[in-house]
Amino acid sequence: MERTKYTLDEKEMPTHWYNIQADLPEPLPPLLNPVTKQPTRLPPPLFPDALNEQEFSKERWIEIPEEVQDIYRLWRPTPLFRAWRLEKALDTPAKIFYKYEGTSPAGSHKPNTAVAQAYYVKKEGFKRISTETGAGQWGSAMSMGAMFFGLECKVYMVRISYEQKPYRRILMETWGAKCVPSPSKDTQIGRDILTKDPTCSGSLGIAISEAVEDALARDDTKYCLGSVLNHVLLHQTIVGEETRKQMEKACAYPDIIVGCVGGGSNFAGQFLPWIRDKISGVKPDMRIICVEPTACPSLTKGPYAWDYGDVAGLAPIVKMYTLGHTFVPPPVHAGGLRYHGMAPIICHLYKLGLVEARAESQVGTFEAGVKFARTEGIISAPEPNHAIKVVIDEALKCRESGESKTILLAHSGHGHFDMAAYDAYLSGKLVDYEYPREMVEAALANLPKVD
Ligand SMILES: *Cc1c(COP(=O)(O)O)cnc(C)c1O
Repeated sequence: MERTKYTLDEKEMPTHWYNIQADLPEPLPPLLNPVTKQPTRLPPPLFPDALNEQEFSKERWIEIPEEVQDIYRLWRPTPLFRAWRLEKALDTPAKIFYKYEGTSPAGSHKPNTAVAQAYYVKKEGFKRISTETGAGQWGSAMSMGAMFFGLECKVYMVRISYEQKPYRRILMETWGAKCVPSPSKDTQIGRDILTKDPTCSGSLGIAISEAVEDALARDDTKYCLGSVLNHVLLHQTIVGEETRKQMEKACAYPDIIVGCVGGGSNFAGQFLPWIRDKISGVKPDMRIICVEPTACPSLTKGPYAWDYGDVAGLAPIVKMYTLGHTFVPPPVHAGGLRYHGMAPIICHLYKLGLVEARAESQVGTFEAGVKFARTEGIISAPEPNHAIKVVIDEALKCRESGESKTILLAHSGHGHFDMAAYDAYLSGKLVDYEYPREMVEAALANLPKVD
């Protein structure tokens, strides 16, 4: 019998996060102040000093604090599986492995950074965290992270999700956080919007603005972000560092690594620990494929340009592949893949030709997700279904060519809160969205001028 599942003993667990900034062939472009357009740090009143340092650090290995390691051990290492049943169903000579982050208490990779961020907020003497959430994945992970360190947590949740998807809110409340629908009456920005439009259904941009206003108004509060930033990607490298050890036990090494990208954190967490082998020439032909939705295709359709990190234009300006900070993508079920831009680290690696990108539309991704559920058992979130689609396509190419490639899937989480999306797919009601060219063109006209 060949093995299906690979784990690690406690003493084999990685003790450091891996910082790609030590090994980049060219340094990252700077962040720019949204007003002066000069290079800047993250706004210090919003972020703990330790995270601001990590954001720009060039140290290759950053020690994971003991307290964070202790909490990681509640669900880490996450399992690495060999997808025997999927391979058989596809009749492919490819070897497919997947690293599954759905076993965390919040059901995704997001607690890897939420716990770390809460630790630094607590360590620097603050008592409270404010943050935003769209469909609720990040808000629930952050609520749990704050709980472990005895911090208060206030989550501004986009009103339409708050009303239509109550279960993630209930997770947050169970972990002790306060979750309000955004726009809310608790901030000036929220009150202004509600005065003009009392039934406003909200947007991620409005929720970010509320969470930032909240943190700026109080001395005891820091703001936390769930993706995009360098320090978030750094914390996620625990995923890839574990996978390297697990693949070694499987006597396997990936030829192709596939993951979904919204802001880029789960996939970067998996592939950054491998890409150093590509940069150093140990494995120059390794392929790394970022998968995004056709409805929000920043890497495959956006220009590499300076743009605001947030919709309100308050966050630093970053160089990234972007659809424009005012672009609001169509309502695909993969809510986590609807960010207008992409993590600067991923954009930089894409620009350098070290990673590839592909866009997939949602009906095909659900077809792939159902195939995965009916072979491997796991019902995946709509986001990783995008990566599963590409893994299946690559495995089928191997069937054509007869090559036995090793494919590693970064699987970011389960879909237990996404049953309405599966219901829509199974009843034939799920639709594909065309690439919204005109909306993107209009949003790109609003890019900031930087010379
Ligand atoms: C939030 C989320 C994503 C997208 O965010 P990244 O920062 O790109 O990882 C992907 N999958 C799941 C399950 C998520 O919750």
